[in-house]
Amino acid sequence: MLIAVDLDGVIANSLKVLLDVWNEETGQNIRFEEIDEWFFWKRLNIDEKTFLKFLNRAWIRWTEIPPTEDKIREKLFKLRSLGRLDIVTARSKETEIYALNWLAKHEIPYDNYVWVKDTEDKAVLEYDVYIDDSPLLARALKDKEKILLIYDQPWNRELDEGKNIKRIKDLDEAYQYLINKKHFKSRY
Ligand SMILES: [Mg+2]
Repeated sequence: MLIAVDLDGVIANSLKVLLDVWNEETGQNIRFEEIDEWFFWKRLNIDEKTFLKFLNRAWIRWTEIPPTEDKIREKLFKLRSLGRLDIVTARSKETEIYALNWLAKHEIPYDNYVWVKDTEDKAVLEYDVYIDDSPLLARALKDKEKILLIYDQPWNRELDEGKNIKRIKDLDEAYQYLINKKHFKSRY
């Protein structure tokens, strides 16, 4: 089983630090739970480029970025026992070094680090299973012969489950779901 695990919003809570940067700079007090849509930055009256700049600035402060869950290393170790586990991430190249540092610091077990330009690009890669928080990837994978486990976040709650799209509240639930597919045959 080939598993692609996303970084931002699935194992690294980078949005927390992004909001710290934003709130420090603007004097606003936007809380995590208020981020209830994927394009929430439109409500901040900024464009996507500016939002991505803030995300880059959050990653510069990578030591402050917490994992999304306790015992993240152990949970990913279990998931990796099911096959190959790659970290597959769409991000600006300039933050790559911080992302790699973060993965090392938290001793995240993975096989390959894979960079894509845009989230939707992940859909054409050779993976059986994706663990991701992006509604855009859900659209790209709809009715495909691949499994998408949507990592529950305030910004994807509107997204419906589907034939191949299942919502998970944490990585243990992903493991439980996948281990029940033990007769699963990889397409690759
Ligand atoms: Mg993500």
